[in-house]
Amino acid sequence: FGRPWIFIRGVPSMKFLPPEGPLEIAFAGRSNVGKSSLINGLVGQKGLARTSNTPGRTQELNYFVPDGFSGDPGDLPPMALVDMPGYGYAQAPKEHVDAWTKLVFDYLRGRSTLKRVYVLIDSRHGIKKNDDDVLNLLDKAAVSYQIILTKTDKIKEPAVPRLISETLEKIKKRPAAFPEVLATSSEKGVGMEELRDAIRVAIST
Ligand code: GDP
Repeated sequence: FGRPWIFIRGVPSMKFLPPEGPLEIAFAGRSNVGKSSLINGLVGQKGLARTSNTPGRTQELNYFVPDGFSGDPGDLPPMALVDMPGYGYAQAPKEHVDAWTKLVFDYLRGRSTLKRVYVLIDSRHGIKKNDDDVLNLLDKAAVSYQIILTKTDKIKEPAVPRLISETLEKIKKRPAAFPEVLATSSEKGVGMEELRDAIRVAIST
């Protein structure tokens, strides 16, 4: 996806956000949904999003940017990828959930350079209650979001189109949902080019 991407900062609360600059594409999902693997697959760098899984970083917004910008016509415009903290730990104490909601909602509501949020859903589980809560938050904040199904290699191939249409049916009344669902497998490299294209379109429109 262009050039080497680098981790620039972890943001534990709003006052540590970088000043608004390049457009931002953010990624959200339940813990273990495959978010790190997807971000690594997207940029083609195995170790990149590991950073965000290291203890202490898990409750932060993690910022990644391309290392330099060539200005070549084929190059991406400057942008940042924002890895949002995972949600839905079974044992999460209420304060933890509240802190997550506050950081994420403040960020979503106040960030004019945020272009789109990708919400990752595990193909085997579909949209769960806490995913729905996050979609409600996004609709309320009026932030454009698109659903990505992850780990499609874990379900039978003919089930994929059905899962896509079931997911579309579930989100069709949601005002901020992008009416297309991407099916991916980081393991098999499926859907990565489609995701890159979708991001290119999102940041150039
Ligand atoms: P995160 O907690 O959302 O960042 O999830 P990770 O990217 O760390 O992935 C969680 C687990 O799911 C790891 O064991 C990954 O190897 C596995 N995983 C991630 N993506 C895929 C995928 O596309 N297919 C399969 N089969 N496993 C995956």
